[in-house]
Order: sequence, then C-alpha cells, then structure tokens
Amino acid sequence: MNFKTINQRFSYPGGNTYLCKFRDELKRLFEGETVLRAGADHLVVISLNLTVEDIVNRVKELNLVMGHFEGGLRNQIKAGIYIADGTPQKPIVMMDRASLACREVHGIFNREYAVFDEELNKKHEQQQYVLEHFEEAFEKGYFKVFYQPVVRALTGKVCGYEALARWIDPVRGIIPPFIFIEIFEKFHLIHRLDALIIEQACKDIRDDMDSGYAYEPVSVNLSRLDFELSDIKKIVDDAVAKYNIPKKYLNLEVTESAFSSQNTNLAETIKAFRADGYEVWLDDFGSGFSSFGNLQSYDFDLLKIDMSFLRTFDTNPKSKLIIASIVDMAKKLGIHTLAEGVETKEQYEYLKMIGCEIIQGYYFGKPMPVEEYQNNREKYCRYEVSEPSELKEYYDTIGTVNLLDNRPLIINRNTIVNFMPTALFELIDGKFQFIYTNKAFSDFMASIGARTHEQIINEFIDKFPEERAMLRQAMLDTEEQKIPIDCAMTIYSCKLIVAVKFLNRTGSRTSFVLTCRNLSKIKKPKYGHL
Ligand code: C2E
Ligand code: MG
Ligand code: MG
Repeated sequence: MNFKTINQRFSYPGGNTYLCKFRDELKRLFEGETVLRAGADHLVVISLNLTVEDIVNRVKELNLVMGHFEGGLRNQIKAGIYIADGTPQKPIVMMDRASLACREVHGIFNREYAVFDEELNKKHEQQQYVLEHFEEAFEKGYFKVFYQPVVRALTGKVCGYEALARWIDPVRGIIPPFIFIEIFEKFHLIHRLDALIIEQACKDIRDDMDSGYAYEPVSVNLSRLDFELSDIKKIVDDAVAKYNIPKKYLNLEVTESAFSSQNTNLAETIKAFRADGYEVWLDDFGSGFSSFGNLQSYDFDLLKIDMSFLRTFDTNPKSKLIIASIVDMAKKLGIHTLAEGVETKEQYEYLKMIGCEIIQGYYFGKPMPVEEYQNNREKYCRYEVSEPSELKEYYDTIGTVNLLDNRPLIINRNTIVNFMPTALFELIDGKFQFIYTNKAFSDFMASIGARTHEQIINEFIDKFPEERAMLRQAMLDTEEQKIPIDCAMTIYSCKLIVAVKFLNRTGSRTSFVLTCRNLSKIKKPKYGHL
C-alpha cells in the first residue's frame, strides 16, 4: 500500500531500491521457493511446502523488516494467499485468486493478509454480477428499503427504525449491501443509491404519520462519498420538505470510515445538519482506527456501538467492560448510546443494566420490508409496542442519567471528579507518606480541622494513639487478607469511616489506597433531619 508515496518522496531510483529490498527480503524469508515479480509493486511467491501459518508469520516479519526502509512512511505490505486444492489450475487463475484475497485487505490498516476461500469467491462473483447489472437496477428500481426496529432499553418499546438498502434482483433474489455498497463507492454511484433510500424513507415516515398508529424516527446511512459527490444536505432537506416531516424524524448515520479521508466538507455539513435540527449519529463506533479522534473532532447526537464487541460478549470478558466504558464516556460527553447487533436476552439485560439507551439487533427483529409492518399494523405499530412520539424527548432526558457514575444526579457534566476522598500512601521503614491525594481528600481534611497533611500525620502519632493503633492493625490485616478493611473512629469530635486496602510490598516499602468519609459533616438537607 502507498508505494506511490515512496516514489514521490525518494523519486524513482529510491523506489527501485525499495523494490529490490522487498524482493531480497522475500527471497530470504521464503528461502528455496520461487519469487517472481507480477508487475509494478506486486510480487508473487510460489511455495510448495508452507502452511498458511508459516506464510502468515513470514508476511508479518516482512512488514517489520521493510518498515526500516520506508523512511517513516506507512507503507504496509499486504498479502493475498491462495492454497491450491489439488485440482489442476492454470497459474493465472491461482494468481488471480491470491490477488483477489489481497485486494480484500488493501486499505484496511489492521489486516495484513487474507486467504482466498469459497466465501470470497462467491462475493467476488456476486460483485461481478452487480457491476454488470447496476444500471438496470437503478433504471428498473430494484432497490428497496428494509427497516430494522430499534428499541428503548428502559421500556422495551420500539422507538425508531434503521433504513437498510437491499437489491431485490429478479434473477438472484435479495443481494445484501455488503456486496454492492463497496462497488457503488468505488464507482461513485453511492450518492444515487442514498438519495433513493432517503426519498423512500421520508415517504414511508409520511405514510406512518398519516396512519393513525404510532410513528417513529428513521435513520439512514450516509457514505463519506455522499458528502463529496452530492449536495447531501440539499437532498435530505428536499426530501424532508417534500413529505413534510419533522427533521427530528430523519436521523443521519455516518460511518466511522467516512472520517478516514480528509474532507472538510464533511465537518461543515455535519454542523449544518445539526444546526438545522437533524440528529447526526456516529455509526460503528469502535470498528475503525479513528474512533476517539472522531468523537473529539465532530459533534454527534448518538453513538452506535459497533457490534463486534457483542460478538465476543460470552467469550471475552473484556467486551462487557469496554461496552460499559463507552456508555460511561458517551454520557459524560452528553451523547446518547445505541448498541448494535443484540442477539440474546442476556445481552439486552446487560445493556439495560449499564444504562445503554437504545438497542438494535436480531433479538428484537431483523430488517424487514415496509409492507411487513404495514400489513401487520396491529402487531407492530400499536402504542403498546411502539413509543408514542411525544415521549421521545421525555425518555431521551431520562437516558442521559449515567447509571455507572457514583453521582447519577449530576447530568451531562464535563469534568471527571471523584467525590470520594481518596489517598495513596506508602509506609517506608515504618514512616508514613502520602503520594497522592485528591481534592475531595483535602476537603475532607479541612472538614475535620486539619490544615495540612503533615499535621494530621504528626497529630495521629501524638494525640490519637488508639486510632493510630487501629489503623496499623487494619494495614496488617489488609496486607494479609488482601481485602479492604474499614475502621470507625472519632477525631476532633468528627465521626469518621476510614477504609484501607493493601496494594503492594517490596522489602520494607508498602503501598496502600485509603478512602474516608466524615459522617459528622453531611450537607444539611433541605427537608427533614436525622
Ligand atoms: P450498519 O449501518 O452498521 O447496519 C447494521 C447492519 O447489521 C445491518 O446489515 C443489519 O442487518 C445488521 N444487523 C442488525 N442486527 C444484527 C444482529 O443482531 N446480528 C448481526 N449479525 N447483524 C445484525 P446490512 O443491512 O447487511 O447492512 C450492512 C451495512 O451496509 C450497514 O451497516 C451500512 O453500513 C451499509 N448500508 C446499508 N444500507 C445502506 C444505504 O442505504 N446506504 C449506505 N451508504 N450504506 C448502507
Ligand atoms: Mg447504520
Ligand atoms: Mg453500524
């Protein structure tokens, strides 16, 4: 990837040197195998003995070694692997298959290789069909919107739909978006498709609004290229005006990958959409490389957590923690959260417990054509199953409460503060020393009448021998039992709870974490007293 930039930076002789190095390293790593140049910056290895694992290890090493010759440019080497299955094949066919696998990972930063398999072959074959028939598909209107419900976790009621494109082919049946979106982006057709989906979605929202049943907002997917190839804002505005629907009813999903290329237009257009009253959602959060950068650079109303975290929900305990941290972070930033790809009751319960507001996935329903909903309005569109539109804003506010925070009463705060007085301290050869105290701890000190941390250490030794002995014992206990130990004590006539937890020891140096509360100094309540 990016060989062009090597040529630009080091000119052709420099590029040639790099290519020779590339060949030499390949020959070294695949010693005894045939190494050929297929043209330009493509090299081929024909190997008789290696397993996929052997090949992958060598590809990884190749990338490491070649990194030294790229002059700081990120010029990744990608590999496509084809394992011959024993049936006679022309070399050109085999090379083509390896090449196809290689293209699969080109431009994807975290993947170094792909192995050709039947699935890839099928995808390639379907994409070939798409290439040959897309004009016909646009002309004859083969595209259809499928709707997948999204559900408010707290109520279990449908509170929106995502519009997802399907190509309904008279010969092949349903062709899913992962086959054609890539091609449409490559051939700059995607804005035509998206305009079509937006128009259809608005039309369907209008029908819903006129039906007398519950109606919900719909979100549509926008490609990065929509912002470059078309006046996407105008397309959306026109459709919304044509069907006279409130802007809050058409949400715009922008995928993370949309932000990977420099596109100033995108930032401005997102701003303009939001200023006009549309919601802009960040799709597939966590799937790409720029997740946090995007959160920092752009403003979003909602963050859709990529379903890859839920795919490892049962097998990798980190997944749950990562999801919870994303929800916590989003709430601190004042952004709503939606989890994609929810397939089980356990996943739903977990997401509800951590305060993820909206849920989407096969557990609640697969994407379906609009007729399915319209023909079964009694089943899908009654107020008992769908959220009445006037409750959207109401529940959105409830959703902003951060249930993972120890101060849930404070909504949308932009600071990270731990209100629990917390200190880290060491005991070095029996001598006590604070190494960290937070603001709450200093406030706590002040509340019991100590002016400095040193004062309290000294006075503990002189004036409170009993409390000091208690704390010493607690430190011994926690080191031995590895659990926090609570102590209740009265100092300067304040009732305190002090908790210590052993952290680590090396020689005569030990470290602890300590939290404390002053029970005598609780803020005076507005009503009632204890
Ligand atoms: P997306 O926007 O992230 O949409 C969610 C995808 O996850 C959909 O796939 C949906 O069917 C699938 N999904 C939903 N729930 C579950 C679940 O519980 N388990 C699993 N395994 N999958 C689930 P779909 O419809 O195949 O769409 C794939 C992608 O294609 C979309 O990802 C979106 O990025 C893109 N796309 C779809 N329609 C359009 C469109 O009209 N325009 C553009 N630009 N992109 C579109
Ligand atoms: Mg989406
Ligand atoms: Mg998504």
